[in-house]
Amino acid sequence: MSRPEILFPLFAEIETLPGVGPKAARALGSGLEIARPRDLIFTLPQAGIERRRVASIRDVVPPAHVVVEVEVGAHLPPTRRSGPLRVMVRDARTEFAVVFFHARAEGMGRILPTGQRRVIAGRVELYDGIAQIVHPDHILRPEEAARLPAFEPVYPLTAGITQKLMHKAAAAALTRAPELREWIDPHLLAREGWPAWRAALGAAHAPATPADIAPSAPARARLAYDEVLAHQLTLALARRSLRRGKGRPSVPDGSRAARVRAALPWPLTAAQESALAEIAADMAAGQRMNRLLQGDVGSGKTVVAFLALCIAVEAGGQGAMMAPTEILARQHFEALGPLAEAAGISLGLLTGRDRGAARREKLAALAEGRLSILVGTHAVFQADVHFADLRLAVVDEQHRFGVAQRMELAAKGVGADVLVMTATPIPRSLALARHGDMDVSVLDEKPPGRKPVQTVLVSTERMEEVLAHLGRAVAAGRQAYWVCPLVDESETVDLAAAEERFAVLRAAFGEGVVGLVHGRLPPADKDAAMADFAAGRTRILVATTVIEVGVNVPAASIMVIERAESFGLAQLHQLRGRVGRGSEASSCLMLYQPPLGETARRRLSILRETEDGFRIAEEDLAIRGAGDPIGTAQSGLPRFRIADPERQAGLMAIAQSDARALLEQDPRLESERGRAARVLLWLLERDQAIRLIGVG
Ligand code: ADP
Ligand code: MG
Repeated sequence: MSRPEILFPLFAEIETLPGVGPKAARALGSGLEIARPRDLIFTLPQAGIERRRVASIRDVVPPAHVVVEVEVGAHLPPTRRSGPLRVMVRDARTEFAVVFFHARAEGMGRILPTGQRRVIAGRVELYDGIAQIVHPDHILRPEEAARLPAFEPVYPLTAGITQKLMHKAAAAALTRAPELREWIDPHLLAREGWPAWRAALGAAHAPATPADIAPSAPARARLAYDEVLAHQLTLALARRSLRRGKGRPSVPDGSRAARVRAALPWPLTAAQESALAEIAADMAAGQRMNRLLQGDVGSGKTVVAFLALCIAVEAGGQGAMMAPTEILARQHFEALGPLAEAAGISLGLLTGRDRGAARREKLAALAEGRLSILVGTHAVFQADVHFADLRLAVVDEQHRFGVAQRMELAAKGVGADVLVMTATPIPRSLALARHGDMDVSVLDEKPPGRKPVQTVLVSTERMEEVLAHLGRAVAAGRQAYWVCPLVDESETVDLAAAEERFAVLRAAFGEGVVGLVHGRLPPADKDAAMADFAAGRTRILVATTVIEVGVNVPAASIMVIERAESFGLAQLHQLRGRVGRGSEASSCLMLYQPPLGETARRRLSILRETEDGFRIAEEDLAIRGAGDPIGTAQSGLPRFRIADPERQAGLMAIAQSDARALLEQDPRLESERGRAARVLLWLLERDQAIRLIGVG
């Protein structure tokens, strides 16, 4: 299948637009992710300038946007190098300067000829107490002035790109947008009062009032809906292709599970029992399972997953569990070992580290069915890994994996049930955007006997006290994590900070007491560091955020987080979730670098108030400004140019049921509306989804 011809002009090179040369093309690409006319039509004005038509700039209080008619006076050349050129002008009541930097004198003579009348649109501002206009937006002859819009859209810019260029390029790109058949349900379109696609684009690029810029403006809401609909169609197609064609229900006989339960030192919580019942029902059904197990940190997801894997084994098949890091994979393997042994199940570990003969032997055991459950990293789903009869694939901590990887996984395990586990507490709106293709089980209860983690905020200026406190705690037999600041995206810098802190702590507490673990450490050293800490040989573990997800050392009861203000709330919640897992009272010290801003203080205070991951996520969302990149960057969602998936949850919910309904009636998108929806998927570059229609 290939892209419909009607869309070709929108997918041409951006340089085919008038006024866009190679340099501008590069700037648009790197600064605004605009590579084709298509990207440009979905880049909407983000604001608008409202201008007042005035007789004199004396009528306004600067700064203000005005349109004013003037008579041009003298040109005053720069008084020093790199100083501005000033053109004196007179309006109805006063004289003022129009100021230009880096202007050529001859050119200015033509644009503002002395003695003639011109209409100027620009921003009046004060410089040394005197009103002036710097670089006016427009200079026109009086007879042309009617052309000036009272409300002028403002596009997002990047270095090397001007408003003028954006306006021109966007207008040209719009002429490439064809009329397309409607893909939105006609009843919905009528109910919401949304314009047709082409008309919506035109309106969204030509706002006439501030209300037209709001996300709720009909044209914008429609275009946002198109994005979320394409996304939900993708998810719904993934869901359908995943559920298709599973012939053999997995029916357990209970033999293994009973032995696992007997080996557990505690009973399952009610929440664990009901999640397990939902999973078992899915696995016993003829359709393929595609379920998300959501539970806050420490809610006990691992054992639920293991009991589900037991079902696969009891039914005569195999299971696999994939973790996002080597540390976690190993930890699962070690924690599950005794349970597997009690149940008489063969359990294996496969990571990127397995090579050569050892790896070959594991793969052979797997292919012959001698190995029943395989735990590992991505390595578990590499091309040459074959299962004799994979019945259940578990993906742990999946917020590290996006929809795309999930679809890959689905394609790999032919007919296997899929259980995805996540601890990221996310607001419902985002959950829908991210997991719209899955059914959800929630662990809304923690195992009994957990003591609340005492959380305190401490300035780094009190480092001495913190170290003294830590010294006493360690002497009393406690264990602590020390998480180093997230300096920036580059791991090298984090690393340097961690090594420095490690040196300081080792000097303070002694050689064998402090361990260090970070992402760049050779794998064997990483294991050794984790093992030493888990066994209590080291008492303090200095770490970068590699320990963020899933690490479980119940004896550790102190968490120190350096530069807590540099972390996201969800991440802090995850980190704190590493303690409070044993019977001992735990504490979390959030160190911050003063001065702490108002917002940062508010954010950190939430953590002090509650340990409820969902409340933290909601509050976090409430505090963060609109369109905050941290939110979406961490969410594993595709990039939306117009929709705001966090704040337009209503649209997302409508789109989910609409997409599922459409595919119910027309699974191969062959009806008239179905074909229109295909064009939408091409238009919004959901090529993955289109491949899924193909494999029907
Ligand atoms: P998460 O949901 O964060 O992955 P884990 O599965 O790592 O949580 O479990 C956290 C801790 O809780 C582990 O030490 C586990 O042994 C313990 N645990 C799990 N279920 C129960 C239970 N029903 N009662 C008591 N402790 C439990
Ligand atoms: Mg876990």
